Amino acid sequence: MAQDAQRFDIVIAGGGNAALCAAISAAERGAKVLVCEAAPKGFRGGNSRHTRNLRMAHDAPTAVLTDSYAEEEYFDDLMRVTAGRTNEHLAKLAIRESKHIADWMAARGVRFQRSLGGTLSLSRTNPFFLGGGKALMNTHYLRAAELGVEVRYDTEIVGLEMKDGFCRGLELRARGFKDYVETRAFIAAAGGFQANLEWLEEAWGPAARNFKIRGTPYAKGGLLKLLLAHGAAQIGEPDQCHAVAIDARAPQFDGGIATRLDCVPFAIVVNKHAQRFYDEGEDFWPKRYAIWGRLVAKQPEQIGFAVLDSRAFELFMPSIFPPEVSDTIEGLADKLSLNPAQLRATVDQFNAACAADEDVAPAVHDGRRTSGLSPDKTNWARPIAQPPYYGYPLRPGITFTYLGVGVDEAARVGMADGRPSGNIWAAGEIMAGNILGQGYLAGIGMTIGSVFGRLAGENAAKSLRN
Ligand SMILES: Cc1cc2nc3c(=O)[nH]c(=O)nc-3n(C[C@H](O)[C@H](O)[C@H](O)COP(=O)(O)OP(=O)(O)OC[C@H]3O[C@@H](n4cnc5c(N)ncnc54)[C@H](O)[C@@H]3O)c2cc1C
Repeated sequence: MAQDAQRFDIVIAGGGNAALCAAISAAERGAKVLVCEAAPKGFRGGNSRHTRNLRMAHDAPTAVLTDSYAEEEYFDDLMRVTAGRTNEHLAKLAIRESKHIADWMAARGVRFQRSLGGTLSLSRTNPFFLGGGKALMNTHYLRAAELGVEVRYDTEIVGLEMKDGFCRGLELRARGFKDYVETRAFIAAAGGFQANLEWLEEAWGPAARNFKIRGTPYAKGGLLKLLLAHGAAQIGEPDQCHAVAIDARAPQFDGGIATRLDCVPFAIVVNKHAQRFYDEGEDFWPKRYAIWGRLVAKQPEQIGFAVLDSRAFELFMPSIFPPEVSDTIEGLADKLSLNPAQLRATVDQFNAACAADEDVAPAVHDGRRTSGLSPDKTNWARPIAQPPYYGYPLRPGITFTYLGVGVDEAARVGMADGRPSGNIWAAGEIMAGNILGQGYLAGIGMTIGSVFGRLAGENAAKSLRN
């Protein structure tokens, strides 16, 4: 039998928002909790440290949100982006519980700020963390420390000891050394598998070699593989993920929010043959940005180029890397390594299909569309005619994968044979595929992690009484 220092009521895998919401919830109910975070302390917090906001239903204006956002509207938005590929019961639970997250976090020291305005269009639906995800995570860790939660950094869970359907012990790789802890309950909150490039390649083929990973390099899916190998129910498809079009010059991992490009609705996007391939003005960027990673992933060599003029350049948040600039379309094509004559032809064709050369209205669907193009641009279409011209190279930036483990409304992991697991719960990206079969709604990642993190912590702690 392990020594006391190696025996816990609840062990949690992961060091992001879902793990810490679970840890705080469980410790507040008196459980002795160990958090194992694969990353070293300086990189703790997984993808969560990159976040800015979460999506929250509310019935009336709050200190940080305007107007109201009814549960039904939230659900309709989710149904639209997922095309119905969601577990409706769990989705409604997440949406209902989202109403309480901000208050729950605020009571534990997290501070929120008003949403940024402009083209983000989130001031009604998404409260922002003051200081961003890093401040959120630091506050979570502080609260966990106050509650006596033990955190081991640089500690990866690499093995589960299962007895009669219950997880009784965990094999750890702690700072490179083998270790072992006993537990009465286990919570898996170890994120997706997006940082495992080989696994991505299995799902996507060689195209995955051109993907960038926007967040933590520590989400490699090792625990997900272990759970599936021990009979947990699999949910979601291996190639479904949240993927954004990001600046092609971003680093391979952890480039974070700064590498995202918000210019697409006000630009045209072409592939390496200088040809358009999708309606750039389909919807507001927060509702569409998550499909563009996949769209670029499907183009030759997984590269795209946003092309715009000086008037459009004023309409979106500045980019971290400077754009390519030229006074002529042909000059811009040269800088982007595109065929100048082909880009000229694409721009001319687009310009001729625009109804009028009037200002676009970024805050509403302005209906300024092209006609006769394939594909048409259905909002914010205005000729690209005012030099200088700007261009950005785009790559698929993978945020997180959706393949995960099935859970029930208590956040308990289900087994492939339909029974609930004995004492394993899951929260966050590792189970987000229950709600996100495809598509994405800005801020729902943190909603899922917070709601199911709390549920997992609460229910794992309650189970200790049995
Ligand atoms: C750049 C960026 C911006 C984003 N912005 C937003 C936003 O504003 N709003 C929003 O809702 N969502 C956003 N997301 C998505 C959001 O980050 C996730 O949905 C959410 O943080 C998931 O939380 P999590 O705790 O499940 O995973 P993570 O925060 O990624 O945590 C997973 C943790 O597990 C650890 N780990 C992995 N394997 C093991 C193992 N075997 N043993 C122990 N530990 C392990 C990792 O080190 C990591 O700490 C963003 C993501 C990125 C990359």
